Amino acid sequence: MTRYIFITGGVVSSLGKGIASAALGALLQSRGYKVRLRKLDPYLNVDPGTMSPYQHGEVFVTDDGAETDLDLGNYERFTGRAAQRNDNITTGRIYMDILTKERRGDYLGATIQVIPHVTNAIKDFVLAGNEDYDFVLVEVGGTVGDIESLPFLEAIRQVGQEQKRGSVIYIHLTLLPYIPSAGELKTKPTQHSVAELRSIGIQPDILLCRTDRPIPVEERRKLALFCNVRPTAVIEARDLGSIYDVPLAYHAEGLDDEVLAAFGMEEGAREPDVSGWKSISERIHAPEGEVTIAVVGKYTGMKDAYKSLIEALTHGGIANRVKVNLDWIESEVFEKEDPSPFLEHVHGILVPGGFGIRGAEGKIRAARFAREGICFGMQMAVIEAARSLAGVAAANSTEFGPTTEPVVGLMTEWMKGNELETRAAGGDLGGTMRLGAYASTLARGSRIATIYGATTISERHRHRFEVNMGYRQMLEAKGLKFAGLSPDGLLPETVEYEDHPWFIGVQYHPELKSRPFEPHPLFASFIDAAKTQSRLV
Ligand code: GLN
Repeated sequence: MTRYIFITGGVVSSLGKGIASAALGALLQSRGYKVRLRKLDPYLNVDPGTMSPYQHGEVFVTDDGAETDLDLGNYERFTGRAAQRNDNITTGRIYMDILTKERRGDYLGATIQVIPHVTNAIKDFVLAGNEDYDFVLVEVGGTVGDIESLPFLEAIRQVGQEQKRGSVIYIHLTLLPYIPSAGELKTKPTQHSVAELRSIGIQPDILLCRTDRPIPVEERRKLALFCNVRPTAVIEARDLGSIYDVPLAYHAEGLDDEVLAAFGMEEGAREPDVSGWKSISERIHAPEGEVTIAVVGKYTGMKDAYKSLIEALTHGGIANRVKVNLDWIESEVFEKEDPSPFLEHVHGILVPGGFGIRGAEGKIRAARFAREGICFGMQMAVIEAARSLAGVAAANSTEFGPTTEPVVGLMTEWMKGNELETRAAGGDLGGTMRLGAYASTLARGSRIATIYGATTISERHRHRFEVNMGYRQMLEAKGLKFAGLSPDGLLPETVEYEDHPWFIGVQYHPELKSRPFEPHPLFASFIDAAKTQSRLV
């Protein structure tokens, strides 16, 4: 039997519902259960692909080419299960499907309404494809009280009524603010939030309470009484030093025991094996050294825009037993100032993915010093090489406007498996990039093939432009080797400088596949190179 756990958020946003869901998933997994994590997003965009990273943080790309919410990255990192397109849905997607059907005449004669049409579509989504799983955890985006979340909450309420008794539970994540003048942790906002949930028919089974200090017995009692939950179901969720401490902390607070009890599964429950999480935690808290990596990006004020990247660098640190300090540099700075003083002291420089002209020249200047360039970062590194090594002064990307030297240009055709994908300038922007897993062939003996220990790899892509093969010969003559290509040999996938201690550019996003238990080889190797550099600086 598949059991459902719905996770809602209350009081304020940004409480870390995604991490909480992912950590609970990991704990259930550690008891040998098969888990799936999914997310319902209440906004009207069809997917987050067209949203600004400032608004919504990173767009997480799945193997099957979906642009999804960044929490799917958390799910994947914590459980090791590769997220899929159908693990995330938005209000926009639901309405788009319903309205397409309406135009086709599928509902002929009917009036289309939020209840039952929208709620049914949400339920169909939630219940589909779960046969192989013991637990399906469904996170509802937004905060209880938002107008937008109402159809989702109504749908998950109905699921609780319609599924087998005892197979659905609700967890509410809330905040207990500390008021210094009163010297107390306050329970009232949580009481209000639960009252709101109960007024729409959802009684939470478990309260997960974010707090910066221990919850006193009296406050626990109050929360249990006023929110109508058992005292053992009030789980303390303290602020922690690292997200990878969360599974252990929740376990210590009894969250997984309480979840099993809520399903009536406590008798004979399997013992958890959290040893893997213990060793990750130990490595994070007792590093043997430190390295500093400069990240030269354009959304540096919004760290969520680089979520997977930050995690992948952390994983590289875990692999090498070092703490990775990040030096965030807004690339526009280098358009006015000399990069040297900013970059001399760091042990590695990374130019991440990005879009558009703002800050691009700064990234090109940083690429002269850089060691790793991802996607846009690789494109900027190649433009830099064309300008300063191959003497192509006008080298540029058509992403920024017409140019006589399109070293990076719009991709209009490429192969996806056996299918030819075609795009035209001026086409739709949503969902039309080269998205998802594509294979690359790495040249035998190249540095990148050595790092992967393989000559065929599969990595996730999200880009519209590509390095122009027409410049390959000229650039290779100057030492910038096109070591990785698409299997048909038509698209450049990776570049590297032969005579540089460690300089790699990749057209894909390796950070999306890095996990704490399986640090990505490129990040492990990059941090290893930074470690060597740190001994020299
Ligand atoms: N803007 C570039 C492109 O579309 C790079 C995208 C990225 O870094 N993900 O090709």
